[in-house]
Formats: sequence, structure tokens, C-alpha cells
Amino acid sequence: MAECIFCNIVEGRIPSAEILSDETAYAFLDINPLAEGHVLLIPRTHYETIDEMPGDEASRVMKHVPSLVKAVQAATDCDGVNVLQNNGRTAHQLIPHVHVHIIPRYEQDEFHFNWPAESYPEGRMEEVQNKIRKHF
Ligand code: 5GP
Ligand code: ZN
Repeated sequence: MAECIFCNIVEGRIPSAEILSDETAYAFLDINPLAEGHVLLIPRTHYETIDEMPGDEASRVMKHVPSLVKAVQAATDCDGVNVLQNNGRTAHQLIPHVHVHIIPRYEQDEFHFNWPAESYPEGRMEEVQNKIRKHF
């Protein structure tokens, strides 16, 4: 995917601030961080969304999340960390190459979620549970 920014980063055609690199995964600093130390973890292979990835390859990428969170916490002394993975424009995915955001959080920072949680009407939770389970 020659025109993909993140493929170009993985292949070294676009410079990036590398945090870790192995045969399957690459992590680097986000160029427009929500806070200093905001890291992006990506697969070396181009997949647009996470559902396109084979599970074992996704595991080989995601296994780095705990150590990245630990390193970001230690380096920034933040109060918390969000691990975010956006799929599709509606979910705020702007770069169509799978990536995991590791974002340092601070008390009183300016990053807010609007999280309009609802509750299920009687019986609906079981219907939804069955609908999802059917697809495994
Ligand atoms: P998304 O909204 O797709 O989940 O997030 C894409 C992220 O990629 C954004 O946070 C953006 O700042 C970051 N980004 C976009 N282009 C570049 C780039 O060329 N280099 C780096 N390091 N980060 C980028
Ligand atoms: Zn790509």
C-alpha cells in the first residue's frame, strides 16, 4: 500500500519516532499527540480495520500493549492511560491502517469522552447476546 502513511512509516519512507519494532509490529510517537508520550502501535502488514486481521497476528501486535502502557506511565508519570483502537470513519478512524492509541491521561486534562450509556429494556440483552454469538 504505497499511498498509506503508516505503511510508509513502517518501511522507513516517512520518518517516525520509533518506540519498538519487531517482525510483526511497530510502535512510534503520534505526530499530533493528545498528550506527550501518545504512542501508536501498528501491524507491519496493511489491514484497514482490526476485523480484517488474523487473530494470531493481532495477538502478536497486541501483546506489546501492557509493556507500552507500563513504559509510557513510567516515562510521563501520568495518572492513567487510555488504550483506544478506532475502526471506520464513524468511530473516528482517519488513517485506514490498523493502529492502537496509547494515550497518557491526567486529572483535569482536556480529553473528554461523551459516553451516553443506556440500559437494555427487559429481554433485549439476551436477544443481542444471541445475535452476536451466532457469528462465532
Ligand atoms: P485515528 O483518528 O485514525 O484513530 O488516528 C490517527 C492518528 O495518526 C492521529 O492521532 C494522528 O495524529 C496520527 N498521525 C497521522 N499522520 C501521522 C504521521 O505522519 N506520523 C505520525 N507519527 N502520526 C500520524
Ligand atoms: Zn498501511
